[in-house]
Amino acid sequence: MDIDRLMNSGLRDIKPYVGGKHREEAKEKYRIEEPVKMSSNENPLGVSPRALEEAQGMLPGANVYPEGSNRLLREAIAGVHDISPETVMFGNGADEIIYYLAMGLINDGDEVIIPRLTFPIYEIACRMMRAAIVYSGMRGLIVDTDDISKRLTDKTKLIALCNPNNPTGHALHRDDVYRFIDTVPRNVLIIMDEAYAEFADPDLFPESVAKFREGHDNLFIIKTLSKAYGLAGFRVGYGIGDARIVELMNRIKLPFNISIVSQHAALGALQDDAFIQRTIENTRKGREEIYEALGRLGLSYVESSTNFILIDTGRDGDLVTEELMRRGVIVRSAKNYGTPTSIRVTVGTPEQNHRFIEALEEIFSA
Ligand code: PMP
Repeated sequence: MDIDRLMNSGLRDIKPYVGGKHREEAKEKYRIEEPVKMSSNENPLGVSPRALEEAQGMLPGANVYPEGSNRLLREAIAGVHDISPETVMFGNGADEIIYYLAMGLINDGDEVIIPRLTFPIYEIACRMMRAAIVYSGMRGLIVDTDDISKRLTDKTKLIALCNPNNPTGHALHRDDVYRFIDTVPRNVLIIMDEAYAEFADPDLFPESVAKFREGHDNLFIIKTLSKAYGLAGFRVGYGIGDARIVELMNRIKLPFNISIVSQHAALGALQDDAFIQRTIENTRKGREEIYEALGRLGLSYVESSTNFILIDTGRDGDLVTEELMRRGVIVRSAKNYGTPTSIRVTVGTPEQNHRFIEALEEIFSA
């Protein structure tokens, strides 16, 4: 069998997504009893209590299919933002929304602009559809919107803008984003991935949905319940964009993409303001504590608008990650993101942060 002949040629240059390491790996490899997982930007406070209650209530009813259009969820989000439910699409995680955007919009050879240092799923989804990937340069570790503008051609179809960006944690200022949006032609879609928006400073962060509502129909905003809402394991994310784009995505949507249990967990989480506030506060304090330790150790980092911090260790990121795992702390090496000496750590509970800091001190004072 000639696999090259059989394969979708778009897959030729795709490297599979590698997620954060799991606790089992640390347990098995280093016989650590209680490793702490700070590698995937999950919520260390657990699942929102309201989500848990709603999800548990649905378990006995899981013999029937979920409502396929995720209507209640779309209506809930439409209500929050004063938009039509037809402009909202829910996915099995935000990842699924990114895939549907690529599948719904890209033809062979369409150009997609992606910053050099960002979340890898945009590239995977767009390559799958045989897009031509155009990388935009960074200004240090910051996404350079001027460079993106310079790379626009009449073949550009999509721009992937992750704000705050993963893996750096940096958020572009509201004014810069607004200025950028105004320079992009209306027939180019800007995918604004705001997976971590809840952790950013609301006074400086762009109000993208308001911009969309005011008529910027080439904005497609992506959000997730995996981070601040604590539902990573339930898999719920959503997108907000022009109803005609949502309609295209719905043509190919998996019929029952979000389980009945996850739908109800999400409905509960969206009402749990107290949990979100607690999460944001825990993250803010944790970031400060970790910054302080990094300052003591003389390690540089990117000021974060998210629940994770990118730290330049000055050593091989994979090796530092391994040394931390040996001490029961699982972080993410940022080497395969293109920052070879960096690690990315998720802000944890105070106890988890202390374990991270202690382990780091041990490694860097040796
Ligand atoms: N966008 C960004 C920037 C992310 O970091 C992630 C999760 N790692 C996602 C989207 C996908 O989130 P999910 O599929 O869990 O909703």
